[in-house]
Amino acid sequence: MRTKVKNYSGVLLVLFFALLVFAPYQGLSQNANPKFKVVIDPGHGGKDPGTRGKNLLEKDVVLAVSMKVGKYLNELLSDVEVVYTRTTDVYHDLKVRATAANEADADLFVSIHANAMPAGNEGVFGTETYVMGVKNTGRNFEVAKRENSVIFLEEDYKEKYQGFDPNSQDVNIAFSIMQEAYQENSILLAQNIEDQFSKRAGRKSRGVKQSSLWVLWNTSMPSVLIELGYLTNPKEERELGSAEVQDYLASAIFRGIRDYIEYLKSTR
Ligand SMILES: [Zn+2]
Repeated sequence: MRTKVKNYSGVLLVLFFALLVFAPYQGLSQNANPKFKVVIDPGHGGKDPGTRGKNLLEKDVVLAVSMKVGKYLNELLSDVEVVYTRTTDVYHDLKVRATAANEADADLFVSIHANAMPAGNEGVFGTETYVMGVKNTGRNFEVAKRENSVIFLEEDYKEKYQGFDPNSQDVNIAFSIMQEAYQENSILLAQNIEDQFSKRAGRKSRGVKQSSLWVLWNTSMPSVLIELGYLTNPKEERELGSAEVQDYLASAIFRGIRDYIEYLKSTR
């Protein structure tokens, strides 16, 4: 009996040292130079135009800006990999977008949208960047309802979104659990982006906000949803349609992401 135990422990000892010797090399070969993966999610698309201005549709403006953000990231940051949820005018539901980010094992999820106000509020303009929030109040709740309402385009939304009701102000706490762990980083990124909107792009920043946006709750990484501006404000609609302003907005988002990555590196 004693000899047997001795034999087994000898084998275990050899295995243990083999693991010590080979494990680091295995790890290195698999992750020699892991890239920082950013998912860019241009909101809406296809049968879902998003919000409408007098001349522009949200889905077109946000696709143009999103492609520019990806281009900047690809060209200027060699250690970043960009994954788009769409690059053409196609419809994907919110679940597909969140799943794509989770399956890509992304480090960041950046959803890009344009805003709207009800008639009579055409004077309102500026950028907003959202992070997941459990408290739905006032205007933030209106944004959540509008951006979540795409869920209603699907007949089976009740099963698909596990009882999530875009029109309810009572938030199911379970939806927020995943994002809670990433909240601090999401806020940091959102703040970087809003700072750059105001400094780099000369936009009016309306600040970082929290809201119950389905797509933010269901991504398991730091996530933000950007509202580029109001298509219901005639001047801002014109600007959002201009290639130059789109470039500035994209450059600001790029800089916000770049600063966020640099901050992460500095704290390692
Ligand atoms: Zn939208």
